[in-house]
Amino acid sequence: MGKNGTIGFREIFGKDEMKKYNCSLRRYICPVLREILMFFYPPRCPVCDDILLPGVMICESCRHEIERAKEPVCKRCGKPLRDDRAEYCGDCERKKHLYLQGKAVFVYKGGIRQSMYRFKYGNRREYALFYAREAAEQYRGWVARHRIEVIVPIPMYSRKARLRGYNQAEVFARALGRELDLPTKSLVKRVRNTVPQKTLSESERRHNLKNAFHLEPDIVKWNQILLVDDIYTTGSTMDAVAEILLSAGIKNIYYICISIGTGF
Ligand SMILES: [Zn+2]
Ligand SMILES: [Zn+2]
Repeated sequence: MGKNGTIGFREIFGKDEMKKYNCSLRRYICPVLREILMFFYPPRCPVCDDILLPGVMICESCRHEIERAKEPVCKRCGKPLRDDRAEYCGDCERKKHLYLQGKAVFVYKGGIRQSMYRFKYGNRREYALFYAREAAEQYRGWVARHRIEVIVPIPMYSRKARLRGYNQAEVFARALGRELDLPTKSLVKRVRNTVPQKTLSESERRHNLKNAFHLEPDIVKWNQILLVDDIYTTGSTMDAVAEILLSAGIKNIYYICISIGTGF
């Protein structure tokens, strides 16, 4: 009998028949199902959202249009700089951050801006694979050099995540974990809803985030943590999470975000 007291395929066909059935399911039916799914949900370009040709992750014109966060970048937050003699952006010169170093994959503008919006609000979770592959390509060596042990997404207030159905930072973190072969753990929780940061001044942001996070008990196992978020603006969220991680004894905190502004 099956799990719910029903008669399943196994009971009807027997073990050997099932092996054959599983084999043919994989060989013939899965490709057909995939074709049907592709017909109804064709893969789309993560930048312009047009339907893609088979075998590509982004359309050719978008590949040229998007801007990656390439050197020279701020040594602290990863924002691209115009002057390659400068070490830090204006932001990082003015204030000390609690994380050690951060990296961004793209510059937050044009098509990437639209892409981020659909990833966050338009249920385009599948874009995460493209972001994660790009991130892994750019920063695999950097992640290995800093001996990152675990990837931790910046949390979203749980009711908000339930309403939206997902936390975009977590979706990206999991895709990145698979690409880099690292574990992904939601070790930080957001226990208090906060006002959207973009409407607030720097000191209001810090106050807004005070006591907004708490940690899962098994956080102490780790020394090098990579935080992950979709967009980096002033870094106050990253610092608020870093602060609570440092107070729990975590030694080094880094981050990767999908996109960032420029730091001229
Ligand atoms: Zn495109
Ligand atoms: Zn900076």
